[in-house]
Amino acid sequence: MTSDPVKGQASNPANDSVRDPASGLVRDPASNPASGPVRNPASDSVRDPAWGPVRDKVLVVGMDGLRFDRLVALEPPVLSGLMAAGAYGTSLLPYGEAAAPRTESPGEIVPEDTAASGEDAATLGEGSPASSEDTAASGEVSSGRVIRSRTDSGPGWSSIATGVWPDRHGVVDNAFTHHQFAKYPDFLTRANAARPDLTTAAFFSWAALAEHGAFGPAIGTRFVLDGYAITWPTADKQVAAAAENHLASTGADLTFVYLGETDEVAHDLGPHCPDYTAALHTQDAYLGRFLDAIRGRPTFAGERWTVLVTTDHGHVDEGGHGGTSIEERTVFVIAARLSADLGGADLGSADVGSADLGGARLAGPRLVDVGPTALALLGIESDPACDLDGVPLEV
Ligand SMILES: [Zn+2]
Repeated sequence: MTSDPVKGQASNPANDSVRDPASGLVRDPASNPASGPVRNPASDSVRDPAWGPVRDKVLVVGMDGLRFDRLVALEPPVLSGLMAAGAYGTSLLPYGEAAAPRTESPGEIVPEDTAASGEDAATLGEGSPASSEDTAASGEVSSGRVIRSRTDSGPGWSSIATGVWPDRHGVVDNAFTHHQFAKYPDFLTRANAARPDLTTAAFFSWAALAEHGAFGPAIGTRFVLDGYAITWPTADKQVAAAAENHLASTGADLTFVYLGETDEVAHDLGPHCPDYTAALHTQDAYLGRFLDAIRGRPTFAGERWTVLVTTDHGHVDEGGHGGTSIEERTVFVIAARLSADLGGADLGSADVGSADLGGARLAGPRLVDVGPTALALLGIESDPACDLDGVPLEV
């Protein structure tokens, strides 16, 4: 693994308060657990007689470098259950750099002039599948925008966080050099701004996401560990434990959890090795504990939880990303309403096909749609002035 100032111990004084390795946990005293139901215009039609208006809550889980075809093949039980009960779909990232070397480590810094100089950047389209590897995005060009970015973690998570593509949020590689997070804040920060009564929480094992503000300091709770400093399995384990405890107790209205070991293993060994299988199943087990924690909440009967799971990019078979192959550009979104038995969720009309996995199909869900979807589930409409690329998914 390369030594990496982005993910290493480099200290940013402005962020020291959120990077305490001893506790890692910073709570905003102004962000208190909700003590009772709050009217949500989107929820007024759904009422539980014992609890009054149902309170919507959203959990977004990100698993770095998770290849969807491997997810389908390996059948991790919890993710497979969400797909069967909920809805899912894939799309192609509208960017990638063919000429630049592939990223070998999730934290590798790519010099900006290299990352930004590619001449084959994909043109923003509808995300329809391309027919061969190393082919830029095909499909109708809707706006003429050309996005120059590597299929790296920085651009991917920034797109998930902000709801806009790299040409707007400014992150084209893992250096975060020209980020525009002040103009395009993350969706948890937007939730706080739109509805100060909502509680938000985010948990990461990749410290760069907090250091550079992809998920910003206004989030009510940020639990930040450094996978490079304490190893990724350890960081993910502690992040998962903190998130599980938080979901069981406070249970913020909007929570984001990042897990990184899948990407780390794929970089080292590729996504077809037993270690990748093990990493995926470990993360799947963490997700299962999150769902158990939610279902065990004493207030669960008065809450309506939706779980979204996504990734930032894929990997080539040999391991690595940054380029334009289908394997690197394919990403997914899974969405499921969390009923007590994980069954019976009504998330749209089922599309039963030959590769049917049980759930409904999302039509080309994009990374930029994740944030707007989470906000819409909380009854927050996007302000056109925000200039977002993403739109709420029908989940
Ligand atoms: Zn990544």
